[in-house]
Amino acid sequence: MGQGLSCRGSIEHQDLFSSVQVGDLDNFEALLERDPSLLHQSSIYDRLSALHIAAANGQIEVLCMILDRSVNPDILNRHRQTPLMLAAMHGRLACVLRLLQAGANILMFDSVQGRTCLHYAAYYGHSDCLQAILDAAHSSPVADSWGFVRFVNVRDGNGATPLHLAARQRRSECVHMLLDSGALVCASTGGYGLKCSCPGSTSLHLAARGGSLDCIRALLAWGADRLQRDSSGRIPYVVALKYNHGRCAALLNPSSAEPLVWPSPLKFISELNQEAKVLLERALMEANMEREKNILKGTSHSQLPSPSHSDSGVEDNISEASDSELCSICFDQVCTIEVQDCGHQMCAPCTLALCCHNKPNPTTASITSPVCPFCRSNIAQLVVVKTKNNDQDIDKDLSSSKLRKSRRSRNYSEGSSSFKGLSTMGSFGKMGGRVSGKVAAECSDWVDKP
Ligand SMILES: [Zn+2]
Ligand SMILES: [Zn+2]
Repeated sequence: MGQGLSCRGSIEHQDLFSSVQVGDLDNFEALLERDPSLLHQSSIYDRLSALHIAAANGQIEVLCMILDRSVNPDILNRHRQTPLMLAAMHGRLACVLRLLQAGANILMFDSVQGRTCLHYAAYYGHSDCLQAILDAAHSSPVADSWGFVRFVNVRDGNGATPLHLAARQRRSECVHMLLDSGALVCASTGGYGLKCSCPGSTSLHLAARGGSLDCIRALLAWGADRLQRDSSGRIPYVVALKYNHGRCAALLNPSSAEPLVWPSPLKFISELNQEAKVLLERALMEANMEREKNILKGTSHSQLPSPSHSDSGVEDNISEASDSELCSICFDQVCTIEVQDCGHQMCAPCTLALCCHNKPNPTTASITSPVCPFCRSNIAQLVVVKTKNNDQDIDKDLSSSKLRKSRRSRNYSEGSSSFKGLSTMGSFGKMGGRVSGKVAAECSDWVDKP
């Protein structure tokens, strides 16, 4: 804890920083009353301000008090890091939110590796902070000056986007969030960054190197190209082999079955509401997990990805669904998706199979839009089916539909796609809960660096 406390001389200053670090509001206030200028001083070595220390340590009350005294929220330390960057690095969501509210600039670059707060959140896997920054980016001046999607794909000094960093660091939840926000799945790091150890890598190369099946699965489902080469001519498959990630390599092997790809070019898919999107994404991941079973069967560790993903929502509430709600395409799952304007209903896997039937080509984005399989009318919108005695949350529908494990096997889309016996892997939304608990255990060392 000695670092950062070697401040400019005064005992008061040391006191001030200590009380900020531990969140001693009374002492902090008392010290400032005696000498208000303390607020604008910084530590000698790292030039950390009280605001940096409060942000890095998640001392929200102190942070608020400092901001209330009109301290510049974008004050820089020795490495040109803003308090927002440190809060994002340490997963201090409350501080991130308060700093954003105070107008902190999300488009500042540090002098270490030229990274923004979005890079920090992605690298350290703090998906809640990442989401907060993305939300802010929609309304901040950055959206006007830079454009939102350009911000999502902002590069650091080595050409790495937040997606690259998240994929490399095995942050699957951040990977998904970024893809969902328009991160370019096939962008490469470029070959010129001096410090870059893997020039010309795509996020898929970096995920292959990091060895995260979840990241690879998400990237592939968003259309990552298994055949794209890095500057050394390697495809991701070769990278995974090099780092001994056998199961990742199996998915990345160009000769193994291709996963279903999220049909993002479809207009009604890009306009899905959150509820319907979660449902369809879950169906996509489940369908792909089912495909994986066959692919991974041949690898040395043939179990399916970690049991921690197993869905807790498999209680037996099958009685919730009467047969009249069964999807009349597969006669297997409950109808959860309604086609508008015609009002026909089907289950999420069948909807997905319909949309993925013509594999979208991300470069041309030309894809014939599917029509309602019942009446052949155009699909204006897909929404989640509302049950009559509503207000039941969607999870209920989902878990009951999930229980309708297949008794009949039917193949829907091309290739080996089968929705039979869908695995019970959690959705991205479910995965959401996993990372955040870690934050509390974060170390309080405010000087650690990326
Ligand atoms: Zn169906
Ligand atoms: Zn219809």
